[in-house]
Amino acid sequence: MQNYKKLSDLPDIKGQTLLMRADLNVPVREGEVTDFTRITRLKPTIDDLMARGANILILSHFGRPKGQENMELSLAFLAPVLSHSWGHEVGFKEQTTRITLLENTRFQAGEEANDMALAKEWANMGDIYVNDAFSVSHRAHASTEAIAHCLPTYAGHLMDQELRALNTALETPQKPVTALVGGAKISTKLDLLGNLINKVDYLVLGGGMANTFVCAQGYDVGKSLCEHDMLDTARSIMARAKDGNCTLVLPTDFVVGQYFKANTPHDTVHIKNVPSDTMALDIGAESIAHIKTIIDHSKTVVWNGPMGAFELEPFDHATVELARYVAHKTSSGELISVAGGGDTVAALAHAGIKDQLTYLSNAGGAFLEWLEGKELPGVKALTAYEASLPTFLAS
Ligand code: AMP
Repeated sequence: MQNYKKLSDLPDIKGQTLLMRADLNVPVREGEVTDFTRITRLKPTIDDLMARGANILILSHFGRPKGQENMELSLAFLAPVLSHSWGHEVGFKEQTTRITLLENTRFQAGEEANDMALAKEWANMGDIYVNDAFSVSHRAHASTEAIAHCLPTYAGHLMDQELRALNTALETPQKPVTALVGGAKISTKLDLLGNLINKVDYLVLGGGMANTFVCAQGYDVGKSLCEHDMLDTARSIMARAKDGNCTLVLPTDFVVGQYFKANTPHDTVHIKNVPSDTMALDIGAESIAHIKTIIDHSKTVVWNGPMGAFELEPFDHATVELARYVAHKTSSGELISVAGGGDTVAALAHAGIKDQLTYLSNAGGAFLEWLEGKELPGVKALTAYEASLPTFLAS
């Protein structure tokens, strides 16, 4: 893991101004924040910096204004919400309080262009840069990448927690490691599958993407979601897994239904016997039981994507059952579990075990790119300032 600086490495910052990149791109409906997770997860960093007597300027994007001022996407409404959630007064734009939320970074065209002139403008406003936005670290933007070249840079608590969790799961894991990968399609997860094959002992596939693999094995999957143009790709993934000593685990039975609808007439069938007028909407009981034995053998589980069409009852069964199993094994100390990306948070929340995993990442795209083995520019930049110093100055 990269040797970045953390908040515990900060010098005396009393009276100094810290520019903090946060991800306050929170879900909002009719002007009200509908999920506070991103806000509450920033509180440890805010509390820590406040206790040390620093002033904080917060940089965040919100929505996609594409470099234009768009008052519908102004962050002004969020200052009182943050004050309330964090228990510290937060001002907006003008620095009248110790914590100030700046306007949506994406109002500036230079933000998404990773423009150094814009980064310097922001950097001139403070003494130190703190990045606590892992969830945007897959973007090389002025407030996540360029700015880290201009000021001494530290990872906030959330960034550090996320990086340590991901590192524990894939870089220096306790073995055997199992990846559970589900979701709709393989076409969107090719890089992810390619990377996991090299890193994990068991790669368990479920959800719609497993249909394509089952079809590639020569079985008829009826009306199931299946990427027929990906059959060769699926076969080559199977061959690479074999060569790389990764055991690829495919379902042996499906719960099939007539329509993509909740409570559509359904049945559990072996993968050899999918009726041509039905579709696989979940993996079956035999597959679930087999996956549980693999989890029993594992010390680490990484999870991305639901095992079935979890939004439609009863096709949420495998996802819920396995999520509860992983949560139970995690609580009893037998397993390290890390999950995230796309619909995974919603699926695990639906199973009621969101808080029972070792780490659940809300990072979405950044979590997926990390699973793909890509270098995240915002993470790489955590050491950019130090690296640019002459060696006798870098400590
Ligand atoms: P992803 O965003 O790729 O993780 O895919 C999540 C979506 O995959 C969810 O909306 C699920 O309903 C869908 N999905 C999972 N399994 C199936 C399946 N067997 N058939 C159709 N859709 C599925």
